[in-house]
Amino acid sequence: MLDIKIEKTKNPKKKPGENEEIEFGTIFTDHMFIMDYEKGKGWINPRIEEYKDLVISPAAMVFHYGQTMFEGMKAYKTDEGKTVLFRPDKNIERANNSNRRLCIPTIPNEDFLQAVKEIVKVDEDWIPRKKGSALYIRPYIIATEPALHVNPSSQYKFIIILSPVGAYYKEGLNPVKIWVEDEYVRAVRGGIGEAKTGGNYAASLYSQEKAHEAGYSQVLWLDGIEHKYIEEVGAMNIFFKINGKVVTPMLNGSILPGVTRNSVIEVCKSWGYTVEERRVSAEEIYKAAKDGSLEEVFGSGTAAVISPVGTLKFEDEVFEINNNQIGEVSQKLYDTITGIQTGKVEDKFNWIVEVK
Ligand SMILES: *Cc1c(COP(=O)(O)O)cnc(C)c1O
Repeated sequence: MLDIKIEKTKNPKKKPGENEEIEFGTIFTDHMFIMDYEKGKGWINPRIEEYKDLVISPAAMVFHYGQTMFEGMKAYKTDEGKTVLFRPDKNIERANNSNRRLCIPTIPNEDFLQAVKEIVKVDEDWIPRKKGSALYIRPYIIATEPALHVNPSSQYKFIIILSPVGAYYKEGLNPVKIWVEDEYVRAVRGGIGEAKTGGNYAASLYSQEKAHEAGYSQVLWLDGIEHKYIEEVGAMNIFFKINGKVVTPMLNGSILPGVTRNSVIEVCKSWGYTVEERRVSAEEIYKAAKDGSLEEVFGSGTAAVISPVGTLKFEDEVFEINNNQIGEVSQKLYDTITGIQTGKVEDKFNWIVEVK
């Protein structure tokens, strides 16, 4: 158990109105959680204080060598007014896997969960209630030792900030256009692709910009070695429905193991679908798109939950999927998972954790 010191702000901010459109992750609540790490002392001084700028050394290691990790999860208000989290244990387990890969000290799972619950409780009134909206939770760790030598930092800060977010797609679920990247790669096996860390995103920006300029909203990454096998999309995992089966690339070390990915697999299996986690080549998808067996394509991630893909650009060819319409399984998955998250659908899987 952490002994969290809570000091509330004397200047609470104005909260966004129910119908105000908020750009994803641009508004932050009144408070944040902070805990420091010092070699020899461990994680110390857990506290909740006013959301404000940090004071850290310009020599802090994170600025030079990128020793950092982050997580992304959401808190929801159910119709009965309960505050709930969705599978926080999964995020926490992944956070500590990222920590181990990046030589960042781990945080005991129960302390991590306590910190998330405490900060959400303090800023509970910031959870938007409109359909599709939630309070986005961003825990992260940065290396703060002021030094330029290359080794794991001896000092860190673990911080949790909160951001009210509206429905990811304002006009409901809209199929997105995806660019299959066959030149640049995001991650390689043996690298840091399966850790949730800034470096993977830095590596992705160039292609992302190129895709945007060409009118595509996201990049679909191929494997870093052969540029043949499909990995994932931007900040989402990817699913295909081919001949009635649900197919997704297996976790191979360079793909981020998404909590939503795991939930999609569980839900699809409970509906009786065959779910295949295996290598999926771009060639296979190309052929399936041509012969009509590619029925649906969708991304999965905490931010959008389910994101139907309407267009795929692969080399010089552009394919339309399901006539650029939302597929039946995509829609049903979106309704079911968001339904569980907001208490409208029975939580058969025991995924909901109440914050009280
Ligand atoms: C966070 C993330 C995902 C999705 O994970 P969820 O736990 O479902 O939100 C997928 N790919 C990358 C690269 C990510 O960073």
